[in-house]
Amino acid sequence: MAYVASAGAATPSPAGGCIFCEALASDDDRRALILLRSAKAFLILNKYPYASGHVMAAFTRHVGALEEVTEKELGEVMSLVRTVVGALGRAYHPAGYNIGLNQGRVSGAGVPDHLHMHVVPRWGGDSNFMSVIAETRVLPESLDTTYDRLLAALDP
Ligand SMILES: [Zn+2]
Repeated sequence: MAYVASAGAATPSPAGGCIFCEALASDDDRRALILLRSAKAFLILNKYPYASGHVMAAFTRHVGALEEVTEKELGEVMSLVRTVVGALGRAYHPAGYNIGLNQGRVSGAGVPDHLHMHVVPRWGGDSNFMSVIAETRVLPESLDTTYDRLLAALDP
């Protein structure tokens, strides 16, 4: 999961704030890049993706350790992971996925105080290695486009 760890490390958090809590507080889900909200979890696009369709399933509660989440919260996050994998499959037809959670800053978590799972679609021969090796991002489409494609695919 070195790739996922690296992706997490690249997610900047603004000074003094939590990007997930700030997104949740927004009344404009599109602007906040939130694709879907359930009671205890939500789906949000990574603002600094390493691949188109890089989504995060986050706990709604500001919590930084898996041992502190409830079964219900865990179930909702995993359920959203499954849902978005289905949507990514319909919209992007990836060959596979990296799905992972970083806990603690030492793990590479960019926002260590608010747990989230990365879902990164992968294709055979994709260019994601460039992100790891050269910190070069190759983005074939804008976040707006990804948002529209995934939103449509979430509601087939
Ligand atoms: Zn938070």
